[in-house]
Amino acid sequence: MKRFHVVLNAFSDDIEKQISEICGLTEYLLEDVKKGNTFIVGDGKMDEDDKHRLAEMAPTKSVIFVILKNLHTEMILDCLMETMCFGDVYLFGSSSFGQEMAIRLGKRSDGSSATGCQWAALSESIVYVKKQVYSNHMMATFCMENSPFCISAARGLEGAMPKAGKSEKEIKTIDKTKDQYPANLTNTIFEEKKPSGGLQTASFVLVGGRGVKNKAGADALARAAEGIHAEFGASRPVVMNAWAAMDKLIGVSGSMIHPKVCITAGVSGAAALYAGIEKSGFIIAINRDENAPIMRKADVVIVDDCQEVLRALQICMEKERADETQAD
Ligand SMILES: Cc1cc2nc3c(=O)[nH]c(=O)nc-3n(C[C@H](O)[C@H](O)[C@H](O)COP(=O)(O)OP(=O)(O)OC[C@H]3O[C@@H](n4cnc5c(N)ncnc54)[C@H](O)[C@@H]3O)c2cc1C
Repeated sequence: MKRFHVVLNAFSDDIEKQISEICGLTEYLLEDVKKGNTFIVGDGKMDEDDKHRLAEMAPTKSVIFVILKNLHTEMILDCLMETMCFGDVYLFGSSSFGQEMAIRLGKRSDGSSATGCQWAALSESIVYVKKQVYSNHMMATFCMENSPFCISAARGLEGAMPKAGKSEKEIKTIDKTKDQYPANLTNTIFEEKKPSGGLQTASFVLVGGRGVKNKAGADALARAAEGIHAEFGASRPVVMNAWAAMDKLIGVSGSMIHPKVCITAGVSGAAALYAGIEKSGFIIAINRDENAPIMRKADVVIVDDCQEVLRALQICMEKERADETQAD
């Protein structure tokens, strides 16, 4: 018999949202999944009333509070591993905490993990999940074979909140506030990511193609994009080789963009890619091959090595910016 466990982060004040997301995901889990524990991770400031209120909302009968000094994922992973049984399913909300926990628990326990899922179902010893891929253009079904199954919900998923049951909740508390951090870890620091409007709204985009050659080439192009204040996008071979993240994909299977200026570098201009950039105001193509299809479609073409051209462009733009600052 499989059990499903829910892990909620009470350091964040959106517990109801986390439960609703997880209930949206579990609506489809078959009924032979026996309910397990709801782990609620929080700090020592939680009083008995807070605990009672949170326990009432929990989707399982058994509730385990894990009390920590601060949100330390290593200690939570230890707790989950201690009670883990073969075949268990662990469900997390959509936040970065949920995603991190799903991935790390799956890895640590030699199980499997899937993040951003919209649907999950169980069939014998396999868990199937559905999630959106290719910048939300397609829905894919993944098959998870290794237990335990660690799954985080997709953002915005909504399910019916569990009704407050007549039966009393079984509440247990694990106090880890006095535990020492593992020797190799003393604290966790979160670094804020610079906000970015993303490819869909960018007015200046640099798209790298297979001509970047490898991961180092793609990274150099991404840095060049930053240097010239452009958003970085990539063609399919670049993302399929994992030289860039999947959400950078431009074209019919990825983002369809409409910037004022689009520079393509080492891109041949296949129809599937071009459909994603044709609404650009102005296209500049850099390619070593003057006969590549993109060279007939672009407004300006540069026949040269793309990395060299971009290095030169970056130097020009930096000089221009410095001159402007001096003039001010
Ligand atoms: C159903 C379907 C959906 C698809 N969806 C997409 C999609 O959404 N997006 C997408 O991109 N593709 C998609 N494709 C794939 C698409 O058909 C092409 O295969 C792909 O766009 C080619 O990518 P590329 O231009 O980077 O590579 P290539 O076609 O291999 O071109 C590389 C180019 O780089 C040039 N080059 C090499 N070295 C250098 C250098 N040093 N400096 C300058 N230039 C250099 C070469 O001359 C060449 O023109 C899809 C295909 C199918 C069948």
